[in-house]
Amino acid sequence: MRTVILARRRLRRRRINWNCCKKIALAVFFFSLCLCLSAEAQARWIRVGLMTAPSAPISGRSLSGRDGGGRRFSLPASFSAHARGSNVVIQGKSYASPVIVSSPHQIRCGKVSYEGELVLRARGGQVTVINRLDVEKYLRGVLGYEINPQWAMEVLKAQAVISRTYALAQMGRHEASGYDVCTTDHCQVYRGTNVLHASTDRAIAQTRGQVLTYRGDLAHTFFCSDSGGATADVGDVWGKRVPYLVVRKEPFPSGSPKARWEASLSAGEIQNALAKKGKSVGTVSQIAIERRDAAGRAAALRFTGSAGSSVLSSAAFRTLIGAKKVRSTFFEFSPEGPRATDVPDPVQRREAPRTARKIAFDPTPLTTAEDAQLKALIEQKKFNVDERLDMILYPERRRNYLYKALGVEAPAMERKREPLEQPAETAKRIPNPARTAVSASLAGGSVTLYGRGWGHGVGLSQWGAKAMADRGWSAEKILEFYYPGTAIQKR
Ligand SMILES: [Zn+2]
Repeated sequence: MRTVILARRRLRRRRINWNCCKKIALAVFFFSLCLCLSAEAQARWIRVGLMTAPSAPISGRSLSGRDGGGRRFSLPASFSAHARGSNVVIQGKSYASPVIVSSPHQIRCGKVSYEGELVLRARGGQVTVINRLDVEKYLRGVLGYEINPQWAMEVLKAQAVISRTYALAQMGRHEASGYDVCTTDHCQVYRGTNVLHASTDRAIAQTRGQVLTYRGDLAHTFFCSDSGGATADVGDVWGKRVPYLVVRKEPFPSGSPKARWEASLSAGEIQNALAKKGKSVGTVSQIAIERRDAAGRAAALRFTGSAGSSVLSSAAFRTLIGAKKVRSTFFEFSPEGPRATDVPDPVQRREAPRTARKIAFDPTPLTTAEDAQLKALIEQKKFNVDERLDMILYPERRRNYLYKALGVEAPAMERKREPLEQPAETAKRIPNPARTAVSASLAGGSVTLYGRGWGHGVGLSQWGAKAMADRGWSAEKILEFYYPGTAIQKR
């Protein structure tokens, strides 16, 4: 009898142990599932269209495949994928499209290697190769190409944020072809792992997930190589105004070795360009700057000829002639070339806080002693937040705040004051661009444009940002300068 009781107890213990094991196994399973799901949620996948052709050359180590029907198979180290109807043919074997090629290593398509997996889609006798990978990894193949990896870390970080923002904003742009973005500058140039650099990888890692937003939405983070001294208003370039893509005069010279350019255009070249846009003026005899933006950049051009005259935006004209020949719209007709004029700071143009006390306007700059006194009063918390903000937005009000806080009358205005300290670059007198030639004759059969900068000029100027980073500006400060009013958020 005792033996039977002991046997029952042993059995119960075993059952309890088995139940425990089952519970632990289930817990482990669900925990791993949660981990997988959260990893999936964190990763932002992007599909990059690499090529569409009758056949695609693929190679790599330990390649494996999975077709549209879920069939798994191993693949040779090098093969060509062809399309037959809606099937992908590899080494004579037909697989249901799409075929997903994966490997623990990089996979090569043509001359470029890629991280992530390659998706082969067959349609209409053509194979489309799509690289599917995490956005952070995708950025490695963008930054290594888009910016000089030798430049200061802060400019690389600024580029990482705007390239990430740009990529996320482009999601689905090529949806009709089955992918998000292409590899050209239509979206962003992407060269896979052929262009990896430790510095650009570090900039991506240090800004992981950071994007630029405006009122909660992804910002339009256009950028160009060199603005030529002042950025362009997006409305003058592509027609639609955006509050943070406005004219901004850069505080430092860009230092680009290709800062200046010249282009000689023949009358025939100009006539062909006008004809393409339906703006023919007959035999063209004169070109003139019809309208300038706030920095003095040519925004619109007037062409006069034997059959009348027509006006065209400089940006459209640049595209028609060729963006490589007319490198920017910042040009003049005289060899001195253009100079950026001062532009009001958009931050200072904003409304002052309503709660700030009314303070009279006094344009006289503070003396060194007054400045020190005001700083001391600020440190002693004599001003509230709105008053301090008001002083930042309207520096000319600082003097009045000072004497109001001191409780004394401001001294007479006409007394001699110290000159206002300014950085050397902005203190220089900048010639009015209106004084330089605003029109040129084509009587000689051609006209020469003398220009500055390279690119459309909208948003961040890479050379301008480099100049800022070289002087100690942070990525945040650079982004606030080029996209005023935007915020950095983690997505
Ligand atoms: Zn594209």
